Amino acid sequence: QAKSAGRKALRFFEKGMQREADQRLRVYNQLREALSENQLRLYYQPQHLLKTGELMGAEALVRWQPPGKMLVGPHSFIHIAEESELIWDIGCWVLQEACKTFVKWQSEGLRLPEISVNISARQFAQEEFVDFITEVLDKTGMDAGYLNLEITESMLVSHVETTISKMNELKKLGIRFSIDDFGAGYSSLAYLKRLPVDELKVDRSFVRDIPHDRRNMAIVETIIAMAQHLGFSVTAEGVETHQQRDFLTHRGCLFYQGFLVSKPLSAEAMRHYMQEHLQRKLLRS
Ligand code: C2E
Ligand code: MG
Ligand code: MG
Ligand code: MG
Repeated sequence: QAKSAGRKALRFFEKGMQREADQRLRVYNQLREALSENQLRLYYQPQHLLKTGELMGAEALVRWQPPGKMLVGPHSFIHIAEESELIWDIGCWVLQEACKTFVKWQSEGLRLPEISVNISARQFAQEEFVDFITEVLDKTGMDAGYLNLEITESMLVSHVETTISKMNELKKLGIRFSIDDFGAGYSSLAYLKRLPVDELKVDRSFVRDIPHDRRNMAIVETIIAMAQHLGFSVTAEGVETHQQRDFLTHRGCLFYQGFLVSKPLSAEAMRHYMQEHLQRKLLRS
């Protein structure tokens, strides 16, 4: 009796696993099609200086637009792409698209100080990564000094030496680095001291509970203070309320992004956003 119940449970379990594997394979195949059929889109989330509200940059965020369906966010597909070499192809598309768009904006007089692009660990680990970046900068006419790459703590855990030397090569070109989702992973403070990074991005989970969770607030304060001591700048992500913004400003955080100021925007909407912002700046001066 127990044995057959166990077998049944196992079969049920196997079926569940099979379904999940099927689902992954389906998404994987659809993603490959998305790439070849040009269904990926880049959205841009504005980043502002906390003190003055000045527009300081934008983060490029990938989306998938299947024909006739709703726009799909990266949480539904990036992890699947990351399990295969597909993340390399998606990452290539993202970087090229971001640089192309940025250069176009510049040529239209829309001067954005910086564009940030998310890089996944598997993509960064590729031997050709540095060459690829150089090639994209060349091809698109992008000035490296405007490019910021967001990496996560996870890629700092293994192959630290290679990571650092790759980062240094890219830094020589003028590229900057941020550690994304800082505090949510498990990077060691010993590495932090050696890494050629410029910025920490405070993970949204810590910002979210300001001003209700004293511990998270203490963590945010500590990250900001530590960044200052190490000479890194700090961007807070996921800022949704005035209270959060005020708290961050008073603690010395430099930049922020979040729904309070703007959701991620399509390239077209971002262009309007910049136009308006530049106009307001001219009116003020
Ligand atoms: P991330 O790099 O930490 O990006 C910030 C995420 O927070 C974005 O989600 C953004 O839309 C969301 N967000 C920003 N402000 C707020 C806010 O005030 N409230 C809330 N609730 N959310 C906010 P998104 O676009 O869904 O991206 C999720 C993650 O997917 C990104 O997290 C990043 O890790 C990954 N991702 C996005 N684009 C790319 C890409 O081109 N390449 C790679 N490798 N990963 C990407
Ligand atoms: Mg920045
Ligand atoms: Mg990011
Ligand atoms: Mg983040």
